[in-house]
Amino acid sequence: MDREARRLHVLHASRLQCRVGCSSCCVDGLTVFDAEADHIRRHHAELLANGTPGALGACAFLDGEGACRIYAERPYVCRTQGLPIRWIERENDGDEIELRDVCPLNEEGQPIETLPPGDCWTIGPAEMRLGQLQLAGGGGARRTALRDLFGVVIFVKP
Ligand code: SF4
Repeated sequence: MDREARRLHVLHASRLQCRVGCSSCCVDGLTVFDAEADHIRRHHAELLANGTPGALGACAFLDGEGACRIYAERPYVCRTQGLPIRWIERENDGDEIELRDVCPLNEEGQPIETLPPGDCWTIGPAEMRLGQLQLAGGGGARRTALRDLFGVVIFVKP
């Protein structure tokens, strides 16, 4: 996921306005799979045990300057924010249609409708893979809210 997200960030570098302080994507209520939660717990035990979650209304990991306090270990969805995205929806008649979107701040440049599919982040496969990993590990369909990672100390095997 990281490799693919990096490739797309390089490809779209000229249109991406994403930077520290631009944090409107960092909404409250994001949830993560077990593998992501464990990754954050493993690397940020001190922050989770003794730190203070950010105010309600934005991601609990956002600091006062609009920066992510777990940037290197941020969930996958955060790694794809700002990129042109595409996804497939099934209509009532069974037909599938492709939809696309991009942050309004990142619209300038080649219209996203004309980008080759491979130049967009496709929503679905990464979620499916994470879900399969979790099922295989016995975690069911559980998702954990990022805010709920604070204040709960769980030992995670290295
Ligand atoms: S984990 Fe970091 S990048 Fe993701 S929403 Fe929270 S503050 Fe933003």
